[in-house]
Amino acid sequence: MSGTIGHTMYAILAAKAAKERKLPISDAIQRHYASYLSGSYLGADVITVPGYVCQDTGQEVGYCAMGLKKSPITGGPLKPWRLESGGKTYAPIEIWRMFYGRSHLNFGWSKDDKKLAISWKRLPDYLADVLGDAVRLFDSGLQPIAYVFGWMTHIVGDALIKSIQPGVPLHLLDGKYPHANRPLQDLVTFHEVGRGELKLDWRKVLDDVASAPVEPLQCHYMRVAQPRGDLAKDFPDGWTPQHEPLLKKVMAENRRYQRIRNTRLLKQLELRHTPSGRQCDEELSRRAGGLGDEEMVDLAGGANFRHALWQIQEATADLFEEVVRRQPLLQNS
Ligand SMILES: [Zn+2]
Repeated sequence: MSGTIGHTMYAILAAKAAKERKLPISDAIQRHYASYLSGSYLGADVITVPGYVCQDTGQEVGYCAMGLKKSPITGGPLKPWRLESGGKTYAPIEIWRMFYGRSHLNFGWSKDDKKLAISWKRLPDYLADVLGDAVRLFDSGLQPIAYVFGWMTHIVGDALIKSIQPGVPLHLLDGKYPHANRPLQDLVTFHEVGRGELKLDWRKVLDDVASAPVEPLQCHYMRVAQPRGDLAKDFPDGWTPQHEPLLKKVMAENRRYQRIRNTRLLKQLELRHTPSGRQCDEELSRRAGGLGDEEMVDLAGGANFRHALWQIQEATADLFEEVVRRQPLLQNS
C-alpha cells in the first residue's frame, strides 16, 4: 500500500503517536493538519501526474509512467500525456527520473543520480537541516513545518512497506508489496481501520491532500532550488536550481490531478451490498487475484496487517523524536 490511502493513514497514525508522546511539534501538526496530510502524499509523490489522455472523452487517466494499453474509461485509444514548461514538453517518465529520488531521499534515484541518495543513518540530519531552514529562511509560521513532518511519514512508510528498510514483516497474498496486495491493503485501510476504527471522513482527508497549498520549501528540501541554508552547507551536492520552474509546475499539476483521482478513488473503494455479502469493485478484486472483499479482510486479519500499521507508526514517531532532538529551533513549536 503506497498510494494516497496508505500514506495518509501512516500520517494519521503517526500524528496520534506524536500526540501521545507529547512531542513539541504535535501542536503544529494538529493546527495545520491539512498541510500535514498533503505533505504525507504530495510532499513526496511528485509523480502524481496523468500518464495518458483518453481519446474518446478527453479525460486524463493513468498514473505517471505506469503503462496502460487502453482507456480505463471507454476501453478506447490513448494518447501520451505531456507537461509543458519553459517552451519544452516533458513525458511522465522524465518527471519521475528528475524528481522521484529527490523527494524520497533514501531510494528511487535514477541511475545517474544514485550518488545523491541519503543513507538511512544521515536522514535525521538532512531533515533537521530542512526544518532549521524552514524556521530561519522561510519565515511563514508553522504550516511548512507541519508539511515537512507529513513528508517524513511518507519517507518512512515507503521505506518500510517496500522493504527498503527492514522492520515490517508482513505476509499477505504473496510477499509484502507485489501488485496484488495493493487492493487488499487499500480496502482494509479504508474500511476497517479508517472508517471502522478511526471514524475517518475520507472525503475530507483526500480533499485536504489536494487542497492544501504548495509549500515553496519543497523545492528547497528536494534540492531543486538555489543552494542555501544549513541543508546546502551539509549537503552541497546535486542542487538543480535550473529545474525549479518545472518542479513548481509539477507541484501545481499534482494538486490538480489529485483532485480528479480523489473522486475516482472514493468511487472505486465503495463496497456494494449484495445478497451474497459485501462486494468490492470488480477491477480491485481482479487485481487481487479474484478475491472478494470479505476474503481480503480475513486474509489481512490473519497476516496481522493492523500490527504492521502500528510498526510503521512507531518507526515514524521515533524519527520525529530524533529530528526534534537534533533541531533546537523546533523544541518550542
Ligand atoms: Zn512515494
